[in-house]
Amino acid sequence: MVAELFVVILVRYSQLFLVPRSWFLVLASCSLLLVPYIAIMKSVLFLILLPFTLFAQQKNPIAIVCDILIRNGKIIDGSGNSWYYGDIAVKDGKIVGIGRQLTNTGEKTIDATGLIVAPGFIDVHTHLEQDETKDPNATNFIMDGVTTCITGNCGASNTDIGKYLRFIDSLKLSINVATLVGHNDVRSK
Ligand SMILES: [Zn+2]
Repeated sequence: MVAELFVVILVRYSQLFLVPRSWFLVLASCSLLLVPYIAIMKSVLFLILLPFTLFAQQKNPIAIVCDILIRNGKIIDGSGNSWYYGDIAVKDGKIVGIGRQLTNTGEKTIDATGLIVAPGFIDVHTHLEQDETKDPNATNFIMDGVTTCITGNCGASNTDIGKYLRFIDSLKLSINVATLVGHNDVRSK
């Protein structure tokens, strides 16, 4: 296609510039030789790129059947950019797709119309000590959008931090917990 166009242009120019047409016909013949060459190169390029395109399709979140699909949320992603409407696909506890009208299908679909979807908040000042076992779902935090708590504030904490974190792990809480080292308890030891 490109070569044929090239031939037409050359012949037209030969008429314009009054140069012997035979010169241009030679050039045109050469350009026609490019046609099979271009076709072969296209095939080679296609074969080289084919594995990458297949891989890309497998990695494409559009093709993934996710565990949870959140639809039509007002997304505030924490990047500092303005909010936008969109869907979020979650699989194996990780976000695998964010965008407008994702084509994923989900085991569970949540309609977030009229709701804000944002990363979990961090409550940097809590006093969880002695209350850790009361509600493993930590409903009081989760319902406020808090997914991480920092405890050990105001100088009071467990002093054996390793032991405390293993205890937290054993409870399988629905929130993340980090702790400061309380200066009062450290001094009194
Ligand atoms: Zn405090």
